[in-house]
Amino acid sequence: MKKIAIYPGTFDPITCGHLDILKRARTLFEKIIIAVNEDSPKESLFTVQERVELIKEVVKEYPGVEVESFRGLLVRYAERKGAHFIIRGLRAISDFEYEFQLNLMNRNLNPRIEIIYLMTSPEYSFLSSSIIKEVSRLQGEVSGLVPPPVLKKLKEKFNHLRR
Ligand code: ADP
Repeated sequence: MKKIAIYPGTFDPITCGHLDILKRARTLFEKIIIAVNEDSPKESLFTVQERVELIKEVVKEYPGVEVESFRGLLVRYAERKGAHFIIRGLRAISDFEYEFQLNLMNRNLNPRIEIIYLMTSPEYSFLSSSIIKEVSRLQGEVSGLVPPPVLKKLKEKFNHLRR
């Protein structure tokens, strides 16, 4: 049986921290589906379509990685995709509390799906999509923290918003 994992998130936008988790998870799974959550309660800068397109561009060189968006319950989506694993990244203690709650709820909904946690690499431990958006909005430099297509799109977005 093929080992398939879902890497879900808001990805608004995808950062080098997300990418680091993805690269490391690739050594564990044969296929990874990056799934943009259309029902995320977070307010977003990029549309779901823009986020999916950006991720596709960033991961186009990675065989075995697919990108799409999903609605509804994550465990149900995973089941539809034939995935028995979900990948999540862990940064600070604050992530832990939320992830712990999410884990228990998902386990309650579907105990057959295992959630795998990868610890952030130290260089990305402070990195989040929110801080990237905040710094970019104020015209700060974020190169090296987001992949080049994201950097380009952020510049476009904020120049457009300033007009
Ligand atoms: P969500 O709204 O589902 O938390 P995010 O796009 O914020 O979506 O994050 C998706 C996943 O990636 C989460 O598990 C998050 O903890 C993880 N993640 C985000 N940034 C980093 C980072 N810098 N290092 C490691 N994991 C990260």
